[in-house]
Amino acid sequence: MTDPSLPWWAQSSMSSESDLSNEEVVEDSDPWSDLADLDEEDLIATLDWRESEVEEGGQNIPAPDYGHNGSEPVLIVHRPHGNSAWIPPLLRALKRAEGNDVALGSVASLTRLNPADRSRYLDSCDAAVVRIADPMAFVFFDQVPGRRSLSARSQRWEFQQHIPGASQSEVAGWVNSVVEAQRIAGANMFLTPGRWMPSVDPSAELDMAFSHADYVAQVLNSDENMAVNFTLARDWLAQESLRDKLLQWVVESEYSTFYVRVLWSMLGTTHGHPLDLELLEGYRELCQTAQEEGVRIFLPESDLTGWMTLAWGSAGFGTGVSSGDRAFSQQRPSGPAATPKPRYLETQLLHTILQTEHQQLKMLPEHVDCSCVYCSKSNSGTPWKSIQAQHHVSVLAKLAANVYRASKASINPASHVLSVIQDAINFADISAKRVIYSSESRPVHLPIWLKSLM
Ligand SMILES: [Zn+2]
Repeated sequence: MTDPSLPWWAQSSMSSESDLSNEEVVEDSDPWSDLADLDEEDLIATLDWRESEVEEGGQNIPAPDYGHNGSEPVLIVHRPHGNSAWIPPLLRALKRAEGNDVALGSVASLTRLNPADRSRYLDSCDAAVVRIADPMAFVFFDQVPGRRSLSARSQRWEFQQHIPGASQSEVAGWVNSVVEAQRIAGANMFLTPGRWMPSVDPSAELDMAFSHADYVAQVLNSDENMAVNFTLARDWLAQESLRDKLLQWVVESEYSTFYVRVLWSMLGTTHGHPLDLELLEGYRELCQTAQEEGVRIFLPESDLTGWMTLAWGSAGFGTGVSSGDRAFSQQRPSGPAATPKPRYLETQLLHTILQTEHQQLKMLPEHVDCSCVYCSKSNSGTPWKSIQAQHHVSVLAKLAANVYRASKASINPASHVLSVIQDAINFADISAKRVIYSSESRPVHLPIWLKSLM
């Protein structure tokens, strides 16, 4: 399908996402997981973990001090499967680079933390004001379409061993063990279990989510914060009647912070974005309504799409050094994985392209080199995978901080985000005349984002 109003590089955006994926090379969904190369700074950070706090567990950690309604956005950085020692120094580097214009969060899934390590990982993320140990209960007890389940080896915590029966006391006991696991892991913002909400029986699903929230609220101390943890099927946001119901429950509840994961359909590539206008419309209504009501929305695995939602008033979004932590989407069937091609998040395109294309872009007078500390190491022999993974998170931090900087200059987030996207479209227009982008490098999401912001 072609649309004469769109530039040639955006034409394929009008086809479905599954069409886009037909000719893609299947790449490992987590190409960085096998890396073992730590640089000196990472090693120091690893050794830096404070033994006393390891023994103490997650006690006496201050409640998060994050921005709210008009103050700085929160960037949540996920702990990867491999290379988790990258994250504490990365967070410190982001803090040095962006100051107080973005609040940093660190999240580790309880599928990845070991009870024996107690709060070691989250404590080591000392630059993060928000620390989350995500229970991700859906992984163990629910079938999420298109998502692979984890092996029994990942069931390390008590609450992961059994699903509660129907009685109130059983549910309360189970939810208590979900909270206790987060305390041990060093969290300072507590999540509800986060069971899967398929939108098959909407009232029952909301009822379960909010009853879990009530049980969590009962066992938290007065100085402990919580967020209601939603794991939603796409239709909860994309279908108007379901969205209205969800918003009604959110607004009428007594809870002020929500951690919302929405299942995206399979992306065209591991570095793609949802090209789903109805879904984006759902994010827009969710975030705008919540902000009007003084409710914080965090979108933990949303990457650049999450950055865009700052335009609509989301309180924060998440990314990571691994592509698997940047999208909660239906996964590709397992199969032989092609060797990942070296790639790079090109800030001016708001998209990840091939490293070879990035080298060509660098020759253009309109191109602006990235100033992050990781790109400055690109001639030092540091492996490209390490540079590009940490550069990616640095770019997201800068983009988020710039939204806040604009607001301090009386430019509202929506106007700022719109102008960044417009600039990216202009850069795509200019650069596409001189660089031949591969199909997966074309920023086909940009015109869709533009539409969703209008
Ligand atoms: Zn960079």
